[in-house]
Amino acid sequence: MNEEGLIFEREVPEGGCLPLPGDEATDALAESLLAGVALRAQPAPLPDVPEWEVVRHFTRLSQRNWGVDTGFYPLGSCTMKHNPRVNEVAARLPGLARVHPDQHPAQVQGMLRLLKTLEEALAEISGMDAVTLQPPAGAQGELTALLCFQAYHRSRGDLGRTRIIVPDSSHGTNPASAARCGMTVQTIQSNAQGLTDLSALDAALDDTVAGFMLTNPNTLGVFEPQVEEVCRRVHGAGGLVYCDGANMNALVGVARPGDMGFDALHFNVHKTFSTPHGGGGPGAGPVAVKRHLEAFLPVPRIVEGADGMLRLDSEYPQSIGKVHSFSGNIGPLVRAYAYIVNHGPLGLREVTERAVLNANYLLSRVREAYDLPYASPPMHEFVLSADRQKALGCRGLDVAKRLLDYGFHAPTVYFPLIVSEALMIEPTETETKRSLDAFADALLAIARECEEQPDLVKEAPHRAYAARLDEVLAARRLDLRYEPEEEG
Ligand SMILES: *Cc1c(COP(=O)(O)O)cnc(C)c1O
Repeated sequence: MNEEGLIFEREVPEGGCLPLPGDEATDALAESLLAGVALRAQPAPLPDVPEWEVVRHFTRLSQRNWGVDTGFYPLGSCTMKHNPRVNEVAARLPGLARVHPDQHPAQVQGMLRLLKTLEEALAEISGMDAVTLQPPAGAQGELTALLCFQAYHRSRGDLGRTRIIVPDSSHGTNPASAARCGMTVQTIQSNAQGLTDLSALDAALDDTVAGFMLTNPNTLGVFEPQVEEVCRRVHGAGGLVYCDGANMNALVGVARPGDMGFDALHFNVHKTFSTPHGGGGPGAGPVAVKRHLEAFLPVPRIVEGADGMLRLDSEYPQSIGKVHSFSGNIGPLVRAYAYIVNHGPLGLREVTERAVLNANYLLSRVREAYDLPYASPPMHEFVLSADRQKALGCRGLDVAKRLLDYGFHAPTVYFPLIVSEALMIEPTETETKRSLDAFADALLAIARECEEQPDLVKEAPHRAYAARLDEVLAARRLDLRYEPEEEG
């Protein structure tokens, strides 16, 4: 793998390691409890490596990766907000982290109150009436809400609604969730501004439509000014409207999907409310719905009795059932609660305003040097095209790779699919003007390099630990496990 080798190749054969501290009494107790049940006959085949070698190895690896603690991180679509460290402390408080999900509700009133308060806050933020915290990710929130859509139509005896409409800018999980529910998916083209094309929508609407899924602001970072009209038309045809809330970063505290006419939305708590999501989970994708969908939400629901005690209630005969064990992924939910309570309504609004301001400032600095196919003022993110650079021989990927040489993480590239050579940039709301300027300067310098010395860009990165990886192979054939060599 590299000149220093993998950790298990760093074994000290003559046994340079100190044994783990233990004492005879505990060893004997463990042996008596585990013998015949789970006690190993042979020691586990683990490498014998001194502690300091392990620490050095993983520290070295961490330094080869780019992370939010290393520098600016402009990935778009994932709505990367700053995750304050204090929320990590909150999520680890033993009284919260060690609650057993099977504990009797009377013993965990504090946790239930936290979750109930979070439900209420998310309902208020989204302009909806009821919330479930169960789904563990945005995609599963979509699935949950679409199952509620199906249950709603069925409850009205409206059995022919089997189609979901999505715009061509939608995130891949939208059509995938609809297909997972057994619905057929119809994609409609966006108009020249990258927005919902009302005539294309009209043409797709009929009494077989279960719903329309829209991201607002959409994946181009553009707000749909006709969103109320879109909702009216879908409702007029008997369908429901779903808001993909992954871009709530641009709305929290300012505008509410519930007020725009949406029937349901999911939050990506791990994007908008303080859970680091680069590591691939766990996340949380709470779903908020209007009153007419509440009866279908997953059970158990957290219900407050007349005595002020909270209990878990599964007596909802129309519910779609459970979509996750217990009450969802508690860690991300505690972080979300801490983030929301910490900021308060005005603080949340300020976070949103700064996200939008930062994106607009950055765009104003770089827009002369790159194409901007959809020119509406962006919200929290914007999508450039490297078509002009491609004509000079440098693709969007090359620009992204060259950014690494300048000390920046690459933006999202080649998404959304409707923008050729897309560079999707979202500056975090907490970045200073100085870091935004440094990033803009790098993008401008790279645009000049594409004109003057394109090979420099095409062969980038020149300073990264690893240059151009086979990303498909890396994603499909992950090789992370320690496999001890066969003996004998
Ligand atoms: C991230 C994202 C999703 C999916 O959310 P997960 O939590 O990753 O499942 C859906 N839509 C949009 C626009 C997103 O950015």
